[in-house]
Amino acid sequence: MTAAISFLCGLLTGSFLNVCIRRWPAGESVISPRSRCPRCGQTIAWFDNVPLLSYLLLRGRCRRCAARISPRYPLVEFTNAALYALIAAHGGWSLESAKMMLFASMMIVLFCTDLAERILPDEITVGGIVLGIALSPFLPLDAGLADIVFLLMSKDPAPWMRSLAESALGAVIFGGVLFLIGEIYFRLRGIDGLGLGDVKMAAMIAAFWGVPQALLVLFAGSLAAASAGVAVVLIAGKDWKYALPFGSYLAAAAVPAMFRSREILAWYWHWTTG
Ligand SMILES: [Zn+2]
Repeated sequence: MTAAISFLCGLLTGSFLNVCIRRWPAGESVISPRSRCPRCGQTIAWFDNVPLLSYLLLRGRCRRCAARISPRYPLVEFTNAALYALIAAHGGWSLESAKMMLFASMMIVLFCTDLAERILPDEITVGGIVLGIALSPFLPLDAGLADIVFLLMSKDPAPWMRSLAESALGAVIFGGVLFLIGEIYFRLRGIDGLGLGDVKMAAMIAAFWGVPQALLVLFAGSLAAASAGVAVVLIAGKDWKYALPFGSYLAAAAVPAMFRSREILAWYWHWTTG
């Protein structure tokens, strides 16, 4: 039941995410005007705007002019709904689940805008850094870099303070270090290896989940991006450019990391420290 209701909430939210994906990169408002068919300009009626169902009933075409509607719309709605159901089944209804749902939706938007437009909107990345830091005192992050810093300073602060420090430190370090790497790469090669959007996105992931989990996401995302790049060159004989943009890989890695990072990091510590 929890999962079913969450699935429905996810469908409705997914519908709004589609609006964000389409309008934010173009710098348009997500509140008004109402959605229109991009070809004939017909305002889309509420009954033709029901998540998932309308796309199926209309067979992916505009009711008036039969222009094709991108399958991205139902895909985003379904993916968001499925993730909400999974999160609710995993952790029930809790503040932590609400945070995971919010983050999953933000990753879906970033995945799509980076894929379609090579843009990672500041509304999500910079907004997400602020939001992640603001939530951290209320939803304590796992032990991470801040705990090591406090240990070295022989300090023993309250849990909310450790969590806030971990979140803020993560945002600063990921933002700062990745920005420097990007700058050095740019000076050496003369091309942009890492966009500023990717840097802000990594800082946002660190602000939401802390340094160890952000490192895991960065590692998994880079590995996936590199293997896909090699596969594209070797198998399809095409240029690197045909691989997905990096932000999409980060988004795809960040969602499963929410569920499994604790186990993976614990296994890693166990394995490296014997
Ligand atoms: Zn139309």
